[in-house]
Amino acid sequence: MSLIRVGALTLALMLVGSLLAACGDDASSSAPNTATSASGNESTEELFIPTEPEEEEEEIHWGYEGAIGPENWASLSTDFEVCEAGVEQSPIDINFADAREDIPDPVLNWELGDLQIVNNGHTIQANVREGSTTVLNGKTYNLLQFHWHKPSEHTVEGDPFAMELHFVHADEDGSLAVLGVLIEEGAANPLYDELWAAQPEEVGFETVKDVDFTELLPEDLATYTYPGSLTTPPCSEGVAWNVIEMPATMSAAQLDAFLFDGNARPVQPFNDRAEGEDHEEGAVHWGYEGAEGPENWAALSADFEVCEAGAEQSPIDIVTGSAVAADIADPVLNWQSGNLEMINNGHTIQANVPAGSTTVLNGKSYNLIQFHWHKPSENTVDGDPFAMELHFVHADADGNLAVLGVLIDEGEALPLYDQLWDAQPAVGETEIVEGVDFSQLLPSDLSTYVFAGSLTTPPCSEGVAWNVLATPTTMSAEQLDAFLYEDNARPTQPVNDRVVEVDAS
Ligand SMILES: [Zn+2]
Ligand SMILES: [Zn+2]
Repeated sequence: MSLIRVGALTLALMLVGSLLAACGDDASSSAPNTATSASGNESTEELFIPTEPEEEEEEIHWGYEGAIGPENWASLSTDFEVCEAGVEQSPIDINFADAREDIPDPVLNWELGDLQIVNNGHTIQANVREGSTTVLNGKTYNLLQFHWHKPSEHTVEGDPFAMELHFVHADEDGSLAVLGVLIEEGAANPLYDELWAAQPEEVGFETVKDVDFTELLPEDLATYTYPGSLTTPPCSEGVAWNVIEMPATMSAAQLDAFLFDGNARPVQPFNDRAEGEDHEEGAVHWGYEGAEGPENWAALSADFEVCEAGAEQSPIDIVTGSAVAADIADPVLNWQSGNLEMINNGHTIQANVPAGSTTVLNGKSYNLIQFHWHKPSENTVDGDPFAMELHFVHADADGNLAVLGVLIDEGEALPLYDQLWDAQPAVGETEIVEGVDFSQLLPSDLSTYVFAGSLTTPPCSEGVAWNVLATPTTMSAEQLDAFLYEDNARPTQPVNDRVVEVDAS
């Protein structure tokens, strides 16, 4: 799948959509993610970015010690395998002397305002209102939330700090970045008195009004950057880390008043990651053949290393005889017809969808962001490719990605494709197709193969939940011919010890 150049406002719109669905603002409600409704006339400015769009059907319990501790996360769920198999995991031990000199300081375009202070059972987290962005190493991200670890997760030359603050960001493609602030014992920060007073003792949330959360940062913002992962399950890689060298401070009493203790993952092996990792805006050129082809993606940029080093890459060959029967619910489509923004990103034709469509995949709810096509198919079945493959790309509000894949055979024409292919724009241009019911692009039988995988285009980030429909759809030979791209499919990757599950019913 490719996640290149989603429309600029897609993430923001997507988040608004998920807020309307999932986030109440009633502070007396016991849990933020199960609040029953947001009032219909609430303006979007009043809404917070939620932790998750919806409660997961089966939540996997994990923690920081014993059988559910960091050493065992990978064994708790197949969704968490990259916690152990990954080679670019976070946190790490940092030596600031290795930091590159030419990394620009973060630029904060933060809107000050109300915070929703959440106790999620793992930490205290502050959800921010939509609209704050941060430029990290030249790339702009939306600020989603911030939260704390005690002691620090990153260590410096072997030593932990008293605490660590993580500002979590995502860009419009769902790429994640974290701005980390180390905290040492020292002068009190008056803002923490206010924040800690609002910590909910139980799982739930409280609102704090009019907060200038730039006060949580130290004076000097020089940062150390490296490619890493989420430090909590599912430990997804492809996270751009930016750790500020100068620590902030809290008083001893303030450190004591934080409700959690011991909620830090131990440092992970650095392996062969490049320090001072480059995440600059200048796009790295990649393609499907020759020097820029799939065999060489990892060599094109240090950002693309997981394309080669990863152990759970996509696409794969689905061996139907080895698929494990499991209780997998069919995808549930809460899709809304609307105008499609057709773009040509130089790698494929992509349709950006309006905000508000969600899909429940294997029990988890995601926002639909865009869909696009590969020719021939990327995933194969029992060794055989299909004529094409359609990828519906989803993300939840934490940036977790999921793809619904549809294999396409040559056969009957699907009339909607005449309309879509007529609107295929030139590279860099956009066409609008009005009032499309894109659920027509799916077969009627939605039973799925489910497996863990990655983006199929650079940076090949892992931690993507793949759902490939067992029943193909069709296009006519003319329609297959009319698609503008040819050979924009990554070859299949080793399955390694992954399990492909299939609906048993
Ligand atoms: Zn794709
Ligand atoms: Zn964190």
